[in-house]
Amino acid sequence: MNQSAYNFERCKLCGQPSATPAYPLHDACIYSCQNCDFHYLDVLDDEHPAPTDSQLDDTSRRYIETRLNESLNLHSERLKLVKEHTDLSSTTALDIGAGLGQFQLSINQKGGRCLGIEPSHLRRQYAAETFGIELFKELVDHPTWQEKFSRYFGLITLWDVIEHVNFPRETLHAAVKLLKPGGILSLETPSRDVAAYRLSLIAHRLSKGKFSLFLPTFYSTARYGHKQIFTHKQLIKLLNDAGLEVIELSHSYTKRLTPGNKIIIVAKKL
Ligand SMILES: [Zn+2]
Repeated sequence: MNQSAYNFERCKLCGQPSATPAYPLHDACIYSCQNCDFHYLDVLDDEHPAPTDSQLDDTSRRYIETRLNESLNLHSERLKLVKEHTDLSSTTALDIGAGLGQFQLSINQKGGRCLGIEPSHLRRQYAAETFGIELFKELVDHPTWQEKFSRYFGLITLWDVIEHVNFPRETLHAAVKLLKPGGILSLETPSRDVAAYRLSLIAHRLSKGKFSLFLPTFYSTARYGHKQIFTHKQLIKLLNDAGLEVIELSHSYTKRLTPGNKIIIVAKKL
């Protein structure tokens, strides 16, 4: 899909020409679909950016390492989750939005074989230098994947990915094509069902756009920033439409008193 000519009135989820600019923020606008109530920013990443000469330097390395430590716990929780549904020692897996490749590394250490896709050149470079793993830059809808890996993987994961991509429906359908029948797809994304989001919409509406409260923290116009936030119902419908059955849904990895702010899903290809 050509991102430079995209008409944001066409809903990125249901495809109907039913979306309107509903919640202007200071640097972008959240579109809302009158048909399916999907919310997304009127911003897309350039899929073919001009080549940059950015190399991994000490500053970017330090930044990456801070994030690396933050995500250590998350990776073990994610691993525990998928382990309940698939035999990691024999699985062939694909981690979409692999970041620094730690999840891929964990699967490989369990005896499985995991490949990873990561669009950020710096992260790929870090993963190669630090862990000795090669991450692929070709996105999941690229012919390399679609032609050579159709119905190939037993496990596909998208950890904090679906909110970042330009076209979530197309990304998900492309991923499902690579999954074997009976294969598992697992993902995590921020939830729009949380009180902070709902209160922010009310504040924005009542103040006629003067106060957005937490809305700007849910979205970002930065490259690879959050472009859409799902309700769990919208996400389940999207997965069902792609031929998946949701077998587990939660809002946090551990039991807690208040509801978590994530949507964590394990789904199976029919
Ligand atoms: Zn829609």
